[in-house]
Amino acid sequence: MARIVAVTNQKGGVGKTTTCVNLAASLAATRRNVLLVDMDPQGNATMGSGIDKNAQAHNGYDLLTRKAEAATVVVPAGEAGFDLIPGNGDLTAAEVELMNEIGREHRLRLALKTIRERYDFILIDCPPSLNLLTVNALAAADSVLIPMQCEYYALEGLAALMNTIEQIQETVNPALELEGILRTMYDPRNSLTLDVSGQLKEFFGDKVYSAVIPRNVRLAEAPSYGLPALKYDRQSKGALAYLALAGEIVRKTGIGKRSRAVTA
Ligand code: ADP
Ligand code: MG
Repeated sequence: MARIVAVTNQKGGVGKTTTCVNLAASLAATRRNVLLVDMDPQGNATMGSGIDKNAQAHNGYDLLTRKAEAATVVVPAGEAGFDLIPGNGDLTAAEVELMNEIGREHRLRLALKTIRERYDFILIDCPPSLNLLTVNALAAADSVLIPMQCEYYALEGLAALMNTIEQIQETVNPALELEGILRTMYDPRNSLTLDVSGQLKEFFGDKVYSAVIPRNVRLAEAPSYGLPALKYDRQSKGALAYLALAGEIVRKTGIGKRSRAVTA
């Protein structure tokens, strides 16, 4: 049964999508079955996984509006080694259509239920705001992974995010946990980075991953080839950092290799 992890942060440009695509590929490289769900209307995770966001028969819109079953919406992300539920601008239309529907926060959770058994990990890429798409992701998730840049306002943003998580726990998902905090675009030569990093560890202890993601141009280039860094430049610092993160997550969650391999 998959562990469902929402990758979220209200702030844009902190590395949510980069983390989703590269962590999905890295977990797949450790022989876990992985599904990536793109809940951002920008569809960057979809394009970054090598899937044309506007050329698919179905996408997340069909799930949220119950026009298609999850199993028919899933596409293999080819070389990247994981499965994908694509997303594009249609997701914005789903938000509008669901406006007056009862239980609109639970559409994604219910849709994923039908395919959850097939995977070890399901990652959900969230848009950079607290809209109905994000609430659907947080309602469906077991836990939240927060990528953040260690900069001056980061801690303030994090406080707001913790507040949001509390509100979700009080309403649609009491079981929601903090999976971990990931330091992205990390530059140890910058004293502010080290300062913020230290404060993070003080507040969140071992919820802060030991693996850090450095600023690495390969991570920024790979999406234009529709590839995770691992398939674009395997030896790059970015690819190796996400492999280290995957290793840490696998150890912490204790989620084994794909069940087929285990029973064989
Ligand atoms: P978000 O999904 O939070 O908006 P993205 O993952 O799209 O953030 O990242 C924002 C921009 O920064 C993108 O252009 C991406 O390629 C780039 N980027 C993300 N992480 C890194 C990194 N570690 N090193 C260099 N560039 C990065
Ligand atoms: Mg994004």
